[in-house]
Amino acid sequence: MHGQDNNENTQVRIEEQKITRFEGHVDGPVEVVLNDGTKVEVKSIFVVTEFRIASPFAKELGCALISTPRGEIVQTDEWKMTSLSGVYAAGDISRTTHSIPFATADGAIAGVGVHQSLVADED
Ligand SMILES: Cc1cc2nc3c(=O)[nH]c(=O)nc-3n(C[C@H](O)[C@H](O)[C@H](O)COP(=O)(O)OP(=O)(O)OC[C@H]3O[C@@H](n4cnc5c(N)ncnc54)[C@H](O)[C@@H]3O)c2cc1C
Repeated sequence: MHGQDNNENTQVRIEEQKITRFEGHVDGPVEVVLNDGTKVEVKSIFVVTEFRIASPFAKELGCALISTPRGEIVQTDEWKMTSLSGVYAAGDISRTTHSIPFATADGAIAGVGVHQSLVADED
């Protein structure tokens, strides 16, 4: 939350008070209401949310999880295999950077990983 003028060059202001609520309308203007009741009108708001794994399978299977500041993710190796042999995890469930390109790439990597493990099993 910006509040005080801390940097003349960037016009960035840091406000360390907690935000209690937002007022206004989605089409604007929006006011941020601070802990002491101060209201600050803003043009845009960027939030970082916490996430949680939606499906129960990884936990039920006993896949190792990693705790991150944003929430738990499933631990995977470079081929997206979890701590359980033959179980793969791709996309948001296995990374903190949530984006379609990353999730798509993860799927492709996991596919190659599965293929390699099947070929190795034949040897
Ligand atoms: C509001 C919002 C905006 C975003 N905008 C962008 C953007 O502009 N660009 C970008 O690159 N990324 C964006 N993202 C992130 C992107 O959507 C995700 O990173 C991406 O969709 C992750 O793909 P995924 O396959 O890992 O998970 P998901 O897309 O969440 O797919 C998981 C699927 O599993 C299904 N599922 C869950 N549980 C079960 C179950 N028990 N049985 C069967 N199916 C189940 C769900 O219904 C879902 O369809 C945005 C995300 C959000 C929330």
